[in-house]
Amino acid sequence: MSGHGLVLRNICKKFGSTNVIRNLSLNVIPGEFLTLLGPSGCGKSTLLRIIAGLELQDEGSIAIGGREVDGLRPKLRDVAMVFQSYALYPHMSVAKNLAIPLLMRRLCAWQRIPVFGALLPGTASRKSEIIEEVARVAKSIGISHLLDRKPRQLSGGQRQRVAVGRAMVRHPAVFLMDEPLSNLDAKLRVQMRAEIKELHQRLGVTFIYVTHDQVEAMTLSDRVAVMLDGELVQVAPPQEIYANPHDRRVAEFVGSPK
Ligand code: ADP
Ligand code: MG
Repeated sequence: MSGHGLVLRNICKKFGSTNVIRNLSLNVIPGEFLTLLGPSGCGKSTLLRIIAGLELQDEGSIAIGGREVDGLRPKLRDVAMVFQSYALYPHMSVAKNLAIPLLMRRLCAWQRIPVFGALLPGTASRKSEIIEEVARVAKSIGISHLLDRKPRQLSGGQRQRVAVGRAMVRHPAVFLMDEPLSNLDAKLRVQMRAEIKELHQRLGVTFIYVTHDQVEAMTLSDRVAVMLDGELVQVAPPQEIYANPHDRRVAEFVGSPK
């Protein structure tokens, strides 16, 4: 499997009179691990939500895998998002939480709603296939023993694994992760950082990862895009950002000696 590249051109977004994203352009290379790094409030989540189609930009365009996706609903963008808050369905078992994207697709195919079904990538559509796919993904991320539990019976780390699994069953070409580890304690954060890195290598698809944590960004990424106040001030491999920060704000933020 290989990931899609993304091209963001001149994205602008205001909330009220506040410019949250300011004329932002970015090329993401197919298969790379790109991290959006910046302080709280600089617009990272908003940008990720715009890429996912959960929020509409005021200006600018987005292409994913060479296809303009402006106006395309989230489900059709071939991306899957993992949220900081996990966003699991509390009343459903882990197995159902994992199956839900596939069940929705099956339902829509069955009712001949064209938006899902035929157009979505991925294969599982029959009930037996869905059960198999859920079991396969659960095994690959070490949560097979949790399938019958409800989210409230899980630790934070286990919940986040389920959230990652729910993204995986859709076989997206692009994973979008919004501070997935920031609710976890320090030790677990380090462990799951390694798991995310391994997942990226194993799947070979494109990851766009959002964090305010410099260490996370520096250890995980092929490239880091430093975001300050709605703009990207430097996009480069971690070593280069650390050794040659573009300006003083970047240096201060990444803790580089310059
Ligand atoms: P980050 O993820 O980097 O912390 P956000 O993208 O969440 O930043 O927010 C950027 C700015 O936009 C913040 O000032 C935030 O308060 C504001 N903002 C985000 N979402 C909304 C919204 N739905 N309505 C109004 N303001 C918002
Ligand atoms: Mg955020």
